[in-house]
Amino acid sequence: MEKYGDFDVVVVGGGTSGVAAAIASARAGAKTILIERLGTLGGQMNVSGPPGFAYAYMFNARKEQIVGGIMEETHNRLLKEGHALPHTTPDFRIGYSFSLVDPDYWGLLIFEMMTENNVELLLYSVAVDVVKEGNKVTGVIVENPSGRQVVFGKVIIDCTGEGHIAARAGAPYEQVPKEELEPHTVSFTMDGVDWDEVLKYIRENVYDFNPMVTPYLDWTDEQVRERIKQVTDVREISNFMGFYSLRDKALAAGEWHPYSGVGFFIMPRENGVIQAHFQHSSQVDNCDPTDVRDLTRVEIECRKQIQIALKFIKKYLPGFKNAYLTRMCTEARIRESRRIMGDYVLTKEDVREARKFPDVIGKSCFSSGAKHVATTETITGTDVAFPKDGGSYDIPYRKE
Ligand SMILES: Cc1cc2nc3c(=O)[nH]c(=O)nc-3n(C[C@H](O)[C@H](O)[C@H](O)COP(=O)(O)OP(=O)(O)OC[C@H]3O[C@@H](n4cnc5c(N)ncnc54)[C@H](O)[C@@H]3O)c2cc1C
Repeated sequence: MEKYGDFDVVVVGGGTSGVAAAIASARAGAKTILIERLGTLGGQMNVSGPPGFAYAYMFNARKEQIVGGIMEETHNRLLKEGHALPHTTPDFRIGYSFSLVDPDYWGLLIFEMMTENNVELLLYSVAVDVVKEGNKVTGVIVENPSGRQVVFGKVIIDCTGEGHIAARAGAPYEQVPKEELEPHTVSFTMDGVDWDEVLKYIRENVYDFNPMVTPYLDWTDEQVRERIKQVTDVREISNFMGFYSLRDKALAAGEWHPYSGVGFFIMPRENGVIQAHFQHSSQVDNCDPTDVRDLTRVEIECRKQIQIALKFIKKYLPGFKNAYLTRMCTEARIRESRRIMGDYVLTKEDVREARKFPDVIGKSCFSSGAKHVATTETITGTDVAFPKDGGSYDIPYRKE
C-alpha cells in the first residue's frame, strides 16, 4: 500500500468540527493533514446544511458569551465582507443566538483558512480503516482515485460526524435502536419570497404559531401572542414553527406529508437578499445511518417528501407564490448516529445544574431532552432540561 505521508495530527472529516480541529492543531505548530471524502469542505454546515450557526448558543440567557473560537472567527470575517448577519438573540428566545452566514461564502472562506494556516488537504479520500500498533492508532487507510494509501499520524482525530474511524479502531460506542433515532433530512433553500407578506400573515394569525419561547421568561400564552403581533424583523422568523391551519388544510387535501411540520430558517445572501431555508420539510425515521440500505431509502424518501413540500409551499404559504428553489442540499443530514463513549458521559443533571468541571474543554447552554420526530409536530420532549439561572454547563476532557 502506498504511504501518503507522516503527520503530527491527522484529522478525518472536513465538517465544522474537522475544520476547527485542523486549524487549531496547525496553529499550535503541529504538522496537520485534513482528510475529507468529498472534494469540498464544510460538511453538514455547508454541503448539506443550514446557513450557519443557528442556535449556536454563543450567548447564554444571561447574555454572557460562552462559545467563541474558530467558528466565531469565520462569522466575524464574513460579517466584515457582508456575507453574514450579526448575532441575534430575539428577546423571547434568550439563550439561543443565531449567527447566520452565507454558506457558499463560508465554504470559500474555510478553504482560504486551510491555506493561511498550512493545513494540508487530502480530498476525495474515504477513510476506510486504521493502522494500529498495539492499542494505539498510528495511521488511517484511505481509498481515493489514486488507490489505497496510508496516512500516518501521532494523533488521529475522528471528525466524521458518525464515529466511523473510532469504530474501526475499536473504540467503544453506543447507538440507540434505529426506531428511537432522530429522523434524517434533506434541506433546501428558496428565493423569491415576499417577506412583508410572510410577516403580515404571522402578525395577523397569532394562533397559527407556537414560537419557542425561552422558559426563563415564564411568559403567559397571552404575552406570547402579544409578542407575535409585534414581529417586524425577518430574522425572527426562524423561531416560528407553525402555519398550523395551512398545514392541516393541506393534509386534509392530501397536499402535505405527515412526516414534519412547517417552518424554515432564513439564509443571508449577497446584497441583503434573504432566502428561506427549509431544514425540517423532509424527515425520514427508522434509519440506521451505519446501514447503507437505510441511508439509500432516506435519500429516496426525502426527495419524495420535498416534491410534496415544494408544491405545498408555493400553493399555501403566504409570500411564497413566486418562490423558487435555489439550493438543494446534496445528501441527507444525519441527526443522530454512533456516540463514541468518552471518559465521562454528560447527564441531564449536569445540564440542569449548569455543572462546571476543572478540565473543561467546551461549553454549552443548549437544553437537553428535546427530540426531533418524523411527525407533523417535528420536535417533541416532555422532560427538557435547561441550565439553571440561565447559565451554561461544561464539557470535561477527563484525560489522565
Ligand atoms: C437537519 C439538521 C438541522 C440542524 N440544524 C442545526 C442548527 O440549526 N444549528 C446548529 O448549530 N446545528 C444544527 N445541526 C447540527 C449540525 O449541523 C451538526 O452538529 C454539525 O454540522 C456537525 O459537524 P461535524 O463536523 O461534526 O460533522 P459533519 O458536518 O457531518 O462533517 C463530517 C465530515 O466528515 C466527512 N466524512 C465522513 N466520513 C468520512 C470518511 N470515512 N472519510 C473521510 N471523510 C469522511 C463528511 O463528508 C463530512 O464532510 C443540524 C443537523 C441536522 C441534521
